[in-house]
Amino acid sequence: MATQHGPMQELTGLGVSSGIAIGRAVCIETRTEEVYRFPLAAEELDAEVERFERAIEAARDEILRVRDKVEKQMGDELAAVFEAHSLFLQDATFVRRIAGRIREEQVNAEWAVYRTAEELGEQFAAMEDDYLRERREDLRDVAHQLLRSLQGISHHQLSEIEGDVVVVADLLTPSDALRLGRGKVVGFVIETGGKTSHTTIIARSLKLPAITGLPGVLSQVTDEDPVILDGETGTVILHPTDEVLADYRRRRSDRIRRDRELMSTCALSARTADGVELELMANIDLPEEVPDVRRYGAAGIGLYRSEFLYIEKSPELPSEEDHYRLYRQLVELTAPHPAIIRTYDLGGRKLASKLLNVHEENPVLGLRGVRLTLAQPEVFKPQIRALYRAASHGDLWAMIPLVSTLEEVERFRSYATSIAEELQREGIEHRRDLPIGIMIEVPCAALIADRLAREVDFFSIGTNDLIQYSLAVDRNNEHVADLYQPLHPGLLRMLRFVIDSARDAGISVSVCGEVASDIRVAPLLVGLGLRRLSMSPRAVPRIKTRLRGLRVSDLEEIAQRCLEFGAASEVSAYLDQALLNEARSSSTVS
Ligand code: PEP
Ligand code: MG
Repeated sequence: MATQHGPMQELTGLGVSSGIAIGRAVCIETRTEEVYRFPLAAEELDAEVERFERAIEAARDEILRVRDKVEKQMGDELAAVFEAHSLFLQDATFVRRIAGRIREEQVNAEWAVYRTAEELGEQFAAMEDDYLRERREDLRDVAHQLLRSLQGISHHQLSEIEGDVVVVADLLTPSDALRLGRGKVVGFVIETGGKTSHTTIIARSLKLPAITGLPGVLSQVTDEDPVILDGETGTVILHPTDEVLADYRRRRSDRIRRDRELMSTCALSARTADGVELELMANIDLPEEVPDVRRYGAAGIGLYRSEFLYIEKSPELPSEEDHYRLYRQLVELTAPHPAIIRTYDLGGRKLASKLLNVHEENPVLGLRGVRLTLAQPEVFKPQIRALYRAASHGDLWAMIPLVSTLEEVERFRSYATSIAEELQREGIEHRRDLPIGIMIEVPCAALIADRLAREVDFFSIGTNDLIQYSLAVDRNNEHVADLYQPLHPGLLRMLRFVIDSARDAGISVSVCGEVASDIRVAPLLVGLGLRRLSMSPRAVPRIKTRLRGLRVSDLEEIAQRCLEFGAASEVSAYLDQALLNEARSSSTVS
């Protein structure tokens, strides 16, 4: 990359996916509220209206395409939502009003769509009739679709750009990150998001460096700007000088060398300095990560996030055979270790709400995880059938997300049993006693872990959500990232209770949240009694190296002490010092 000698600028955000990326910026705006107003010359207006008409066609085609698929998969009732959307686009008044605005105000089509939708939306909101008032949502969706067609999110143009691309965006959904990240993209800089948001989890799965928490960065960057980003430190450098560029190229080679050296631990067992065996498992989100389980020496799959299979095929649902083929491959690959496959954790921010035909003001506290399974069991049936079938080929465990009550477990179990009976009647090979476990990621579930432990075969603690829900801190919100505290003593106490409850009931317990790959927190988790940790495969060699140098007996004492503090900052300061001393003494002993 040739450097540009604009003034060099250094920004610092949250480093959420490690690695150094060097490339050229491509700016992407996805938040439709931020639509800019461009004044146009009189002679440009005809072309602009034509552009708007083409966008209407494209949006209508897209909506009808989605409607047909949804109708096939989920029936007419849901498809009717899309029908309503397409009617808006055929409404002559709506279309005329936007075209009129382009001409009268001499503005770009995006602005005219945005303003018109706002104006009409306010009129709908003021209506007495419930039905009409609710049409405001449809209008919003249609405007969004129109804006997308007009702006044509630049991904189709990325391939035309020479060299490596650093995407600079206001907000990316996990599926945006997935679609973009498989192209020429070498890194992400995103205004919003935290360490455990699903978009950053996808960046890590794609092994792409990423930085979030830089509000306003889009206004500081222009397409084609040369950019360096360091996902470990959270540094973004715009217009680097030749020296800085050379320095970062050197650092990048050093890190690659360091990671290669760590790979030498892959064949070693995850045994602590005092001989306690641990199991470091892999979290897998995407099919391309499957070979990483072995490559990085993970002891099986501790979490397969199956919803990404759905997100990639959306709005179609994967078939039973799609699920079965993949799960069978996973379970055969991980033998003799288990593969823990989680049923779709859809809802929250991981599914377009229109597919569910519900609008939720606060979807993270809404119809997600097992709640959605129980509300729409038919949608999950092919997946559950496939889990039973694939389990006959290896050590497959099924896991349910976002459990908050005992009744949910009972209802899920009875639904699963009815599916096993159906397979039995059909004479299809399956494993009848498929182990069924739950994610512990809701505080109230953690606090009844002793009761839940009698009803399930295993626990996996989802600290990403458990922290979010116990501290009332949105895991995606960079403004409260400081409050997202994995070392909060309240959380540690909850972990201790869950771990003790599992041990007393004789069931397996692991942690599959991002804290398991945190070099500071992982030893504490072992000290609290965990022997199974599941993390991004790339993190396994580093965490293994760290834990091999420590003694469980000492970690238990350290953890006990941590439980007595009142603040995360106290735990943090104590932990750093204690682990430093422990590492020193272990290295002198061995
Ligand atoms: C968690 O909540 O910790 C977890 C592993 O699940 P997800 O990140 O997919 O919500
Ligand atoms: Mg979760």
